Amino acid sequence: MMTLALVVGVLLGCLLITALALWIGLKLSKGRRSGFSWALAAMVIAFVGWTAVYWGVTHIPLPETWWPAPYLALLGAGMIAVLWAYLVSLVLLRTTLVQTLAAWLSTVPAFVIVWLLLHLVVRNYLLEIAYLRSNSMAPTLLALHHVGTCPHCGGTAYVPYTTNFEYEPPGARYGMCKDCRKSCLVREVGSAIFRSDRFLINKVVAPRRWDLVTYRDPLRQVRFTKRVVGLPGEEVYINEGKVFVNGEAVPLPADMQGLEFSLHQFDGRPALWGTPESPAVLGPNEYFVLDDFSIRGHDSRMWTTPFPGHPPYALPRSSIEGVVGWILWPEDRMRLLR
Ligand SMILES: [Zn+2]
Repeated sequence: MMTLALVVGVLLGCLLITALALWIGLKLSKGRRSGFSWALAAMVIAFVGWTAVYWGVTHIPLPETWWPAPYLALLGAGMIAVLWAYLVSLVLLRTTLVQTLAAWLSTVPAFVIVWLLLHLVVRNYLLEIAYLRSNSMAPTLLALHHVGTCPHCGGTAYVPYTTNFEYEPPGARYGMCKDCRKSCLVREVGSAIFRSDRFLINKVVAPRRWDLVTYRDPLRQVRFTKRVVGLPGEEVYINEGKVFVNGEAVPLPADMQGLEFSLHQFDGRPALWGTPESPAVLGPNEYFVLDDFSIRGHDSRMWTTPFPGHPPYALPRSSIEGVVGWILWPEDRMRLLR
């Protein structure tokens, strides 16, 4: 629930800063309804309308072959947003045209401040929207993908969008089932390409076991997302698909039932670390992280380039950006995780 509280807090902060500016504008232009509660109510209604306009412009099917379409849609949305602000003033605040202009112009610096706060403070220290480039966290988080049928249960299998078929048998693709959460060879893959999930990284909470964490790779500084399975001070290995911590199998949470972690990749390469023969021993502030799409994953089991000062399999706490708190988009995959 922490992520939801953070989102509500950030939204309230944005509302208060802009409503304060509108209130000052109404006072200065001697508006008829210049109390702070009127300014706040007007800003809330304005935000609701602008959100609806944003939803509309991102959901209207545009003709893809006509290049000015997105620009015209943006221009139209901007005009509707301005008209909406004018109507809110006229009806709710009973302002004249000049007062409306004065009141809303005084909010411009507030919106600049909000924009700066969102980019410099919120994005760096509290919340950030992100997406993935690989499907190694499927079926929990998806990048560009196709959809097929799972041969185990007949459910929906997600198949990564890729042009590299080197290790796949002809006529079949490796996928990950949404329903039984098993990796599978999918024979019939749809040609439609589905887009990547958008999710919120919560940079405030500390990672717990089974959380999804994001970090940047030590060499290329590319963002990755993996699942925490081993915590500082623990000894971790994988056996028969299960995670063992300090010699005992750890049960999976309800939303992960069926998932199995592998000791090899689909090209046959064996795991280097976290095997029964060479368990991963984690020091203070070190985590062992795995991908859900285990046979395609390149995770703590396989790493060869260590974070400086740590064993190759360890993800240090200082490199973790945050915990995936909320899958925001697409709507049918929306889910609050922390
Ligand atoms: Zn299945």
